Amino acid sequence: MLSRRIGHFVESVIRDMTRLSLKYDAINLAQGFPDFPAPQELKQAGATAIMEDYNQYSITWGAKDLRDEISRKALKYNNIEADPDSEITVTCGSTEAMMDAMLALINEGDEVVIFEPFYENYGPDSAVSGAVPRFVPLKDDYSINEDALVSAFNKKTRALILNTPNNPCGKVFTKEEFKLIAELCIEHDVIAVTDEIYEHILYDNNKHISIASLPEMKDRTLTISGFSKTYSVTGWRIGYAIAQKDITSAIRKVHDFLTVGAPAPLQHACVTALRFPDSYYKDLAGMYDRKRKILYNSLINAGFKCKMPGGAYYILADFPEETGMDDMAFAKYLVSEIGVACVPGSSFYISKEGKHKLRFTFSKKDETLIEAARRLEKLKI
Ligand code: GLN
Repeated sequence: MLSRRIGHFVESVIRDMTRLSLKYDAINLAQGFPDFPAPQELKQAGATAIMEDYNQYSITWGAKDLRDEISRKALKYNNIEADPDSEITVTCGSTEAMMDAMLALINEGDEVVIFEPFYENYGPDSAVSGAVPRFVPLKDDYSINEDALVSAFNKKTRALILNTPNNPCGKVFTKEEFKLIAELCIEHDVIAVTDEIYEHILYDNNKHISIASLPEMKDRTLTISGFSKTYSVTGWRIGYAIAQKDITSAIRKVHDFLTVGAPAPLQHACVTALRFPDSYYKDLAGMYDRKRKILYNSLINAGFKCKMPGGAYYILADFPEETGMDDMAFAKYLVSEIGVACVPGSSFYISKEGKHKLRFTFSKKDETLIEAARRLEKLKI
């Protein structure tokens, strides 16, 4: 007999679409990872760290030099004061940090508020930790429906998961929305668990705000980020969680027994990443802005309806009912017949809303996106 917890969810559809993409030799706009190289200096730092013999376990909660650097970055970029010795944990990607967070905070039956559309992992994170998810749909323009949010909070609410900039819809939450969320968290004694992995991928002069920097929020926020997206090293699996010391010590226990530690040489190399000049981040956002426009134009041209995302590197697009297919069937058709892989919208929705949506990533070389555009043109829905 298998665990009931595991029966509640399926394997990642995102990664399943990658497998289908390989099978059909399609262009993979499904899984959000770059098909271009990581920065040369960072790759060199990784190779050097191995040659310098950073090859044994680091301290379970993260190499000291990396935690120091994360602390400096958190203050400068996120306006969060975090003690590297007691408030920062380095994890195997932000995916592990999110699961650690849930296991550290949740008792069976506690409720967790999750905005819809949501990142695929939050469902399984809830199932494994025993949380009851309370999904709060964002409005059509992806702004918060205040009444729906207020009524989602009750005595059982333990945490709220926030992902900004958002995967899959590209929403960047506004100052007013942060204020509302913070007020509700304070009023109901709720922890904000915030996934900020796309914090440097912002467009149209959007600015990143970490909810932990708002008054009275530092001690009730668990801030999660990582190196995968900002430095194009999704396979390195280095992420981190920042939280006040009691929450951090709970996270460290889960992390220790799950993984012992994140890869030691790569942690050491990530110190180099955090010392990149400001121009690196400007160039990164500029590069993704260009890619965002290429994908947006090709989706519009092929007959999809979509909005320009305000951040992150995905576009969530509507396809017309006339296709007669649901999202799963249409995604399978696209990968097998058109040669472009994407993710069916229902991976990001509990409601039916996802059934007529698909998510495409633009974290790919311009030439990959241009070839995808050429293939999508055949579609003309
Ligand atoms: N975050 C990426 C996405 O949404 C990758 C997911 C994964 O496979 N870890 O596509």
